[in-house]
Amino acid sequence: MNLVLFGPPGAGKGTQAKVIQDQRGLPQLSTGEMLRSAIASGSTLGREVDAILARGDLVSDDIVVSIIEERLKKPDCVKGAVFDGFPRTIAQAEALDRLLAGMGRRIKLVVELKVNDEILIERVRQRIAQGLSRQDDNPETLRNRLAVYYRSTAPLIDFYKLQGKVVSIDGMEPVATVTKQIADVIDARLAARVE
Ligand code: ADP
Repeated sequence: MNLVLFGPPGAGKGTQAKVIQDQRGLPQLSTGEMLRSAIASGSTLGREVDAILARGDLVSDDIVVSIIEERLKKPDCVKGAVFDGFPRTIAQAEALDRLLAGMGRRIKLVVELKVNDEILIERVRQRIAQGLSRQDDNPETLRNRLAVYYRSTAPLIDFYKLQGKVVSIDGMEPVATVTKQIADVIDARLAARVE
């Protein structure tokens, strides 16, 4: 199954994507992690995107789409994947639909994690307090990441609703509760054999 985990920065997409990867063998495709590892490796791409991530802006559609295109060719994606932090724009979603269609596949499910802004800001504050924060986890950059999310990414929900693929989950419940709810949604979708 190809599924998209959707939601604002700090909603818990990465945490839940890792659980799905472990439990179902569907690889987590996180463009944020891929970009951060490019930066850490000092590659040309990494140098190109470093300042963009630091500001909390979006990297160009061309760059992330080509990263995902390459990643989807790897054999571990044949049974599907969990997209985490991608797509983030309508253009990316359209490109993903085209890429998957070319491989005879499609997005089957979009799980939206709903979390209020105040809680997102509090989570980042805690990550900073615990020393677990990333370069872009500071109050100012987070404010920009949220603004970018509402401007460029949130409209994707309607794009996927028109395709009948969205299930929304309360991402403010405890992690284990969210995990269970996502598992139930995936199982229901698998049982329905919706093609
Ligand atoms: P978050 O926790 O904010 O959702 P991610 O790890 O998904 O963070 O992404 C971190 C940063 O990487 C984003 O703020 C953005 O700069 C860049 N990025 C990640 N995925 C994409 C994408 N699909 N399109 C454009 N930029 C992206």
